[in-house]
Amino acid sequence: MMASKVTITPYGGLGEIGMNCMLIETDSSAILIDCGLMFSELDHFGVEFAIPNFTHLLRKKDKIRAIFATHGHEDHIGALSFALKAGIRAPIYASQFTSLMVRERLKETGLEEVVPLRVLHSGGTVELGDLKVTTVSVNHSIIDSFSLFIDTPIGKIIHTGDFKLDASPYFGDVFEWDMFKKAGDEGVLLLLSDSTNVERENHGLQDTAISERLEELFQTARGMILVSLFSSNVGRMANIFKLANKMGKKIALTGRSMEQNVRLAQERGAITLDTSNVIDIKEVDRYDRNQVIVLSTGCQGEPRSALNRIAHAEHAHVSIGPDDLVILSSSQIPGNEVPISKLTNELFRRGADVLYDAIEDVHTSGHATRPELKKLIEIVKPKFFIPIHGEFRHLILHARLAAETGVAEQNVCVIQNGEVLELHPDHYQIVEEIEELRVLVDGREGVEVTKDILRDRRRLAEMGVVFCLIAREKDSGKILTKPEVLAKGLINESLEGYMIEEAVKVVEGLISRYTKELKHGVIDPALAENIRIDLRRFFDRNIGKKPTVVPMILDV
Ligand SMILES: [Zn+2]
Repeated sequence: MMASKVTITPYGGLGEIGMNCMLIETDSSAILIDCGLMFSELDHFGVEFAIPNFTHLLRKKDKIRAIFATHGHEDHIGALSFALKAGIRAPIYASQFTSLMVRERLKETGLEEVVPLRVLHSGGTVELGDLKVTTVSVNHSIIDSFSLFIDTPIGKIIHTGDFKLDASPYFGDVFEWDMFKKAGDEGVLLLLSDSTNVERENHGLQDTAISERLEELFQTARGMILVSLFSSNVGRMANIFKLANKMGKKIALTGRSMEQNVRLAQERGAITLDTSNVIDIKEVDRYDRNQVIVLSTGCQGEPRSALNRIAHAEHAHVSIGPDDLVILSSSQIPGNEVPISKLTNELFRRGADVLYDAIEDVHTSGHATRPELKKLIEIVKPKFFIPIHGEFRHLILHARLAAETGVAEQNVCVIQNGEVLELHPDHYQIVEEIEELRVLVDGREGVEVTKDILRDRRRLAEMGVVFCLIAREKDSGKILTKPEVLAKGLINESLEGYMIEEAVKVVEGLISRYTKELKHGVIDPALAENIRIDLRRFFDRNIGKKPTVVPMILDV
């Protein structure tokens, strides 16, 4: 029997920028597209990032025939190792550079032998049961990015991945218009398209324009040049290496991911390094300042990054000052505006000149803008349209654009993470809503930060903590010491002595009641709980805070 539907499940990336992960399945086969993590907006209470919750996906485990990584950004590949750890097993398909990035991630977690990693070139085709996937080269802020054309029993689906249009990318293929056009002419059932930049009316700048501007800036710079960019933007890096070569300047790298990605880009053949032009970051001081270009991570204002240390004059080998030029060659990821703004102020405070994309053309976004998105819809002429990769407002705006551009209004579907959509040749319906879509994670080891832990951390951060120590004789239950109360993050110094004394009195009151009962041979098991309740009440009444109270009764 002909399969009559395709089911689409977004586990992440719809309604947020980050954590992209989507399952596309027929009755017999399924493919997972991307498996990313999400950094932004969660950078507090020690949570490092979020990954998709794989519980629902694991139910489909046996159907998954392949995982496709559209490109090497963390929000597309960063959770792959977690998916494998969770038990998902399928070969991973990716472009040359993406596969190198994936390989490094899997190596770091000791998972490189778990599933095969297969390299595809643009135009490559893989048959997976009743699905056939073709990779199509697109431009983005990382080289070797793919859109996926997926032939299903009910028609062709195009998943754009992240893309922009660049007629002259610094490295790699141009956007494959012809393949999109051909697909459009033959008929496309569904287009899933990147919504990130739907609010931008202007065409994005081309790589060549950025390159020309950087060259001018490099030529006129009087002091040291520091360029901060995403370490995955190896196309831009290759460009800077070439400019440095041409001008006889030395390049120094700072940031571990920067060094790693330069190595991978060399392996890919995207960067050809004249090693005589690359110097160790420790040797920067040995050269004239205007001879050196430093490439650094930290363009998002990350507190522990090399650039942030440089901005605070805490970097072991690089300092900046008047005459130096800092170029932030990156976009701001939504949510990072505040740390980036602080970083920029700090760099100006050192006396350096700072250029960033709000005031100078030193960066072009990796995502197609509104006119380009429109053009794509016009060429592909999809029957159905689903906006992907965007915050909720981006999805809505992109959906409206599709309706204005000729997709029938009832065939434009805005779905969010967890909404399972069944697509039929003539209609669609939401058939399930999955809850608990993200898992918060502490670090690379993938230790989950549960709701309880997060609640505790939030309370500790907002309310402080109070410890109360008492020594008790194990057998008799007799209290042996005066209670000791310690507070952290709660009381200011001038009040501390007084407040602690008063808190001790509260506990002593409880102890005297307890001791009375003890005389009747009863060891009250609720002493610790009563201390907790009364101390919380005491601090609430006196300073308006209900701290976490940790009673510690040591039986000796
Ligand atoms: Zn991307």
